[in-house]
Amino acid sequence: MQKIIAKQALTPNGWEQDVEIGVQGGRIVHLQAAPAGAKPTVGLALPAPLNLHSHAFQRAMSGLTEARGPDPRDSFWTWRRLMYKFLDQLTPDQIEAIAAQVFLEMLEAGYAGVAEFHYLHHDAGGVPYANLAELSERIIAAASQAGIGLTLLPVLYQFGGLDKRPLAGGQRRFGNDPEQFTRLHEGARQAIAAGAQDFRIGVAPHSLRAVDKFGLDRSVDLGGSGPIHMHLAEQVAEVDEVLAHVNARPTEWLLANYNVDPNWCLIHCTQMTEQETQALAHTGAVAGLCPITESNLGDGIFNGTHYLGLNGKVGFGSDSNVHISLFDELKTLEYSQRLRDKSRAALATPDRSTGRVLFDAAVVGGAQAGGRDSGVLAVGKTADILGLDLDNEWGANRTGDMALDTLIFGGNGQHCISDVWSAGRHMVKQGRHIAREQITKTFIATMAELEQDI
Ligand code: ZN
Repeated sequence: MQKIIAKQALTPNGWEQDVEIGVQGGRIVHLQAAPAGAKPTVGLALPAPLNLHSHAFQRAMSGLTEARGPDPRDSFWTWRRLMYKFLDQLTPDQIEAIAAQVFLEMLEAGYAGVAEFHYLHHDAGGVPYANLAELSERIIAAASQAGIGLTLLPVLYQFGGLDKRPLAGGQRRFGNDPEQFTRLHEGARQAIAAGAQDFRIGVAPHSLRAVDKFGLDRSVDLGGSGPIHMHLAEQVAEVDEVLAHVNARPTEWLLANYNVDPNWCLIHCTQMTEQETQALAHTGAVAGLCPITESNLGDGIFNGTHYLGLNGKVGFGSDSNVHISLFDELKTLEYSQRLRDKSRAALATPDRSTGRVLFDAAVVGGAQAGGRDSGVLAVGKTADILGLDLDNEWGANRTGDMALDTLIFGGNGQHCISDVWSAGRHMVKQGRHIAREQITKTFIATMAELEQDI
């Protein structure tokens, strides 16, 4: 059994001093007062959240898409152009290498798990691999290498828009009809079952733009009692397109046509009316927020004050993986509310500081969205644990909620992450992933191969 001694731990009873956490078989088996005089292994112990939205391969594009194209009105030009260039050439080995690196970085950022919204399925030109689930298996292999808890979400992507135009160019690597997708999902399910005990499978109909009603129904069936994720209401143009085709806004249409319940996680939700915000909050579904990517892409601002005020569930995802930082995701959401409302401490409540509200939301919403039995330090739960060292110039020996506020708003929270356990796997020690040397070396070599061609 592993024993973690924490000077302070965030338990269901709040902050407790001098706690011993016993971990065995991937779960927390005891939580008790540490023996007198025991040397602490971590300063603070907290539940480690799950990153609820990622497209791993996009990590390779970070920093390469910030220039403006020839038409200044087309602000997506560099992003789209580069994505399709990558899509023309990425091989299974390269995809696995990039995913292993990004999963390593997530662990070093304090995430114990990831829900991978996996839509890159086929070879260039849309030709299926001999094994239909080849790339799902590569994502699973990458998660196994990095030791992160994986919830794999194979994505159904049928069309290039609501007019059902066929997928073109690089997009053809994403495409399946519902029949082929059913077989692909079954292959992925078997591969997940053969992986680590805490690995899970869900399903992800890509968006209302990319699937039809039949495809969405099939996805919901395949999801069973597991997580169902979908992009929803990210950009104004998307809302307008849905409105023009079905005479309802995306959130409005989805809630009218499906029994959206806590198994659902709707990604982005940056374009919702007050009524939609209220209706979605009442379903118990998770709104999957990706504030860094949403800022990077200029998507808009999620109405966090209203949604959390209604006890709506949220979680956080790194989406495009342009920058992986749990603490910066939380800060970016809060700052978006302050800038919009010209306010301070926008999401704080009378009894919890801003940092505490954000952190609690991230762990509870992340676990729910990933179908992962974690999100709280309690006996019987999956041992997803974040260890922090605040005995330094960044943490300034802070404790309790003030420690969380310092980590999130002080801007150097990442420096204080000393340890991360994912289902008991102690993957980050002294701030570094234990397999960093090998995984990063392979990633750098992969990037060198790719950049020869862009
Ligand atoms: Zn996304």
